[in-house]
Amino acid sequence: MDSHENYVYKTEVNWSLLTEGLTLPVENQVIFARNMGKFLHRGEVKPITLYLNGKGYRAQIRNVNFDSRFNRKNDTLQIRYTRNGHLAQALKACFSKSYNYIKAQREIRLRDNRSIIKLPEGYKEYLAIYTTAYEDTYILETIEAEDIISIKKAVQNQSELAMEAKFNYDIEDKTASIFEDERILKFRKLSRKIGENLKLFYDYRCQICGQYVGEEYGAKVAEAHHIDYFVQSLNNDANNQLIVCPNHHSIIHETNPVFNRKKLIYLYPNGVQEGLMLNQHLHL
Ligand SMILES: [Zn+2]
Ligand SMILES: [Zn+2]
Repeated sequence: MDSHENYVYKTEVNWSLLTEGLTLPVENQVIFARNMGKFLHRGEVKPITLYLNGKGYRAQIRNVNFDSRFNRKNDTLQIRYTRNGHLAQALKACFSKSYNYIKAQREIRLRDNRSIIKLPEGYKEYLAIYTTAYEDTYILETIEAEDIISIKKAVQNQSELAMEAKFNYDIEDKTASIFEDERILKFRKLSRKIGENLKLFYDYRCQICGQYVGEEYGAKVAEAHHIDYFVQSLNNDANNQLIVCPNHHSIIHETNPVFNRKKLIYLYPNGVQEGLMLNQHLHL
């Protein structure tokens, strides 16, 4: 399951996803883009199979705007499935909490209001999409409200460094119960894949100092750091992760600098300010 062919995209549940499909920006998705570059040309539509809980569903993927010769910011793929068909029904069943919330909101709002209904905290659920060894086959994994409750309990007393070490390196948690394990492993795999994708995107260079670590030893060592600490925020989105060298990572956890999201700089307690030498995935 954890092979390198398996890559991920994480998206928050919304009405479109629950009924007919979703749009994936692929600008930072190295493996996805690699997979797609061979498989789909710009404007092309192809049939695909999506697996959810071991069951396969037919769908289509369309390459809306992807051409590897241009460094475009808005490369997107669209996945479409039959409106309210079998896959949509299965997704509604998995994401019953967000489905019921959005459905109720749609019923009480004005008819001409077509804005996207945002899920409040406690209702947010996510879909993760993994590529497989087959270009036309994807695996869908759900991060449901119940999963998030379990994860919250499991991480609340853990240190941020210990938690991140589990995402960055292969460390097993032997203290978790079997029941917790499934939910937590699912979440851990997702966090890890998002971090791994970003490491590939920056070619294992530190976003702060731009350095490669370990190259002269034939190794590449970079770590994914969570800007808002994961144990508090449970936020493993790419926009909460920074790829850093082990030195910068240790310094950040030792000194707890404040990250200014507007300027994309760290402000250390001794007054030192440090910007990002490399950044293409954190947006102002
Ligand atoms: Zn560094
Ligand atoms: Zn960290």
